Amino acid sequence: MKMRAAVLAEFGAPMEVREVEIAEPGPGEIRVRIAASGICASDLKAVDGTSPVVSELPVICGHESSGTVEAVGAGVTAYAPGDPVLIALGRSCGRCRRCGRGEGHLCTDAARMRAVMGLMPDGSTRLRADRAAIRPYLGIGGFAEYAVVHERQLVPLPSEVDLVAMSLLGCAVVTGVGAVVNTARVEAGATVLVVGCGGVGLNVVQGAVLAGASRVIASDITAPKLTAAELFGATDALPSAPGDTDAADLAARVRELVPDGVDYAFDVTGVPAVLRAAFEATRPGGTTVMVGSPPAGTDVAVPAGALFASRRLMGCQGGDGSPASDLRRLVDLCLAERLDPGGLISEQVGLDDINDAIGNVRAGEVVRSVVVF
Ligand SMILES: [Zn+2]
Ligand SMILES: [Zn+2]
Repeated sequence: MKMRAAVLAEFGAPMEVREVEIAEPGPGEIRVRIAASGICASDLKAVDGTSPVVSELPVICGHESSGTVEAVGAGVTAYAPGDPVLIALGRSCGRCRRCGRGEGHLCTDAARMRAVMGLMPDGSTRLRADRAAIRPYLGIGGFAEYAVVHERQLVPLPSEVDLVAMSLLGCAVVTGVGAVVNTARVEAGATVLVVGCGGVGLNVVQGAVLAGASRVIASDITAPKLTAAELFGATDALPSAPGDTDAADLAARVRELVPDGVDYAFDVTGVPAVLRAAFEATRPGGTTVMVGSPPAGTDVAVPAGALFASRRLMGCQGGDGSPASDLRRLVDLCLAERLDPGGLISEQVGLDDINDAIGNVRAGEVVRSVVVF
């Protein structure tokens, strides 16, 4: 069948909103009618050609999506047309050693690896235009009216939820909250620093509040994001200016608030100089989590003496954990009004305005912009 989608045909160029052919779902697959897809910094990397998983174009970006089951392939019994669903960042197999350890985000299953590269298990794709195959970004491709995904990548939603707000659970919320509860395992009473308060960073703030942190210091270069951080429960707002010198100064300013240094620091900027400053803002024995991803090929340097003082520096991929099962708990937290994904949305746009919306995200003018169908 035909649908409308935003197709990226050239790195750095605007996406073209055009008609695309989407195939029927194969065995174990489901066609989802997309309700909403958030625009994430990773989508910008795909557009710019700096994403390690986007080597071939054309691609349909978008990976933070909710929707409704529209058609199911052979053998699918867990879902039926009309079911509201969330699309998880990855499909883990549930069988490999890493899945067995609860690390579904690091699943080594071949089908998952292909899905990350935008391919179905048989190496094909369900999307094409002008007879050329189109890959869905991260196996999702949410900037389109429909997506065909494997059923293992779906999470059921209760029928009464707001699908637009819930779409943000798929990446921003699962990553930010996961960094706090899965990666750092922040304990009640801890002091926390969050640098970079976009969609993911605000969810690190929300996660720290949920975990019972006694102090949540939020830092960002834009005032609206700091205001949002305070709304989400940050106890201190630390404005900063762009640039390396300011980053180096960050640790000193954090120590004016917490003299010994914070227990946990989260860098959500992906800027190595900022990550170093966040690391230097932790106390001896403190933990720093790199949540934002620096450009491919970048090195991260921290002072050896500070690291020697039992500090830890941790990576974090999509919030660690197992997205499909973690998302179920996050849905429950939303239903209990302990998490507010809707509060992250500063702009809703139609598919035709996607290039403008991407420009606004790039300019740092919005917390989360969501394409709504
Ligand atoms: Zn994302
Ligand atoms: Zn696995």
